[in-house]
Amino acid sequence: MNRLISYGKQSISDKDIEAVANVLKSDFITQGPVVPQFEKTIADYCGANYAVAVCNATSALHLACRALNIGPGDRVWTSPNTFVASANCVLYCGASIDFVDIDPKSYNISVEQLRQKLEIADKNNQLPKAIIAVHFSGQSCDMKAIKSLSEQYHFFIIEDAAHAIGARYLTDKVGSCVYSDITVFSFHPVKIITTGEGGMLLTNKVELFEKIKCLRNHGITREQNEMTQSSHGEWYYEQNELGYNYRMTDMQAALGLSQFERLDEFVKKRRELAQVYQQTLKELPICLPWQSERSQSSWHLYVICLELDRLKSSKKTIFSQLRQQGIGVNLHYIPVHTQPYYQKLGFKWGDYPNSEAYYERAITIPLFPEMTIQDIDYIKKILTQAIQ
Ligand SMILES: *Cc1c(COP(=O)(O)O)cnc(C)c1O
Repeated sequence: MNRLISYGKQSISDKDIEAVANVLKSDFITQGPVVPQFEKTIADYCGANYAVAVCNATSALHLACRALNIGPGDRVWTSPNTFVASANCVLYCGASIDFVDIDPKSYNISVEQLRQKLEIADKNNQLPKAIIAVHFSGQSCDMKAIKSLSEQYHFFIIEDAAHAIGARYLTDKVGSCVYSDITVFSFHPVKIITTGEGGMLLTNKVELFEKIKCLRNHGITREQNEMTQSSHGEWYYEQNELGYNYRMTDMQAALGLSQFERLDEFVKKRRELAQVYQQTLKELPICLPWQSERSQSSWHLYVICLELDRLKSSKKTIFSQLRQQGIGVNLHYIPVHTQPYYQKLGFKWGDYPNSEAYYERAITIPLFPEMTIQDIDYIKKILTQAIQ
């Protein structure tokens, strides 16, 4: 076998290609009618009032922080078990970042540790202005518990749902913003649906929606009622905020709209493959993903944890053996606080022991809709050999 089974992979149909080609043949390849269509489709699907499409989820997280007026002197907390973008967005705004360790079962932010940290912060007058809850691997954080803490301690909630479009929490879709101010999705090709590069913010609050739309486009407005000076003429626009060009193109939105038609199918396929994994791998000395009864994951990632004390080989050896045999294993995530840049900010190894213990044992094995049962059998065979 010389094909590499990558850990995640997009699925592009002829219809997807046609949708993009149609935009290329139309009058607008950016700032045309397709971006608003894509936004409305995703907002309706999630049950949120508003959606704003942007060029990637990193810029979506940045805009989420800006829209909530996070700036110098403010604190924001997130989980160390995430991609660096979930923390970087806070630093872009000149605010300070801190972390709350993960729950060893779900690998999401630990609500218990959050509660304890909030109690201490409250006493020291150092409460966070916002929490960024990352739905790791597509399984929602315990949003009801986080929301109730936010009511007690008055912080905003941003959901980093880069992994979690198509997932559910209790009776709602992730993205409904029932338990948060803003939810962010990513449409990077390894995620659930793709636009190449792309992201989206969802919210139920009109003032956040207006602010995000304005910041996406340089902080410029063309609406008379949002201007501070009277119009000079029909060409007139006004900048009242320092914004960015974080727009999505119509070509990307067309791909996203076309991909959206298969969103539920993709998630169903991922869930079925994950169930096959649970059955196939249950006898091996590894820990399989735990699923909360409160949520239905979108299964962006399938992460196994090695029971290292029962194994002869090290994780490093097992990992490279899998790669050598064509299995594109990966690692999600190196705890953000251990990155050299974050160590320069004062964080150090040992700060978040659950995230670090998880990091020592975790391996992401392939999971994507076009993967086959034969692939899973092959992965089991190689994994069994590697962990002897
Ligand atoms: C992928 C990802 C991002 C960033 O998404 P981009 O669209 O690549 O900018 C942010 N947070 C998490 C948890 C991610 O997995």
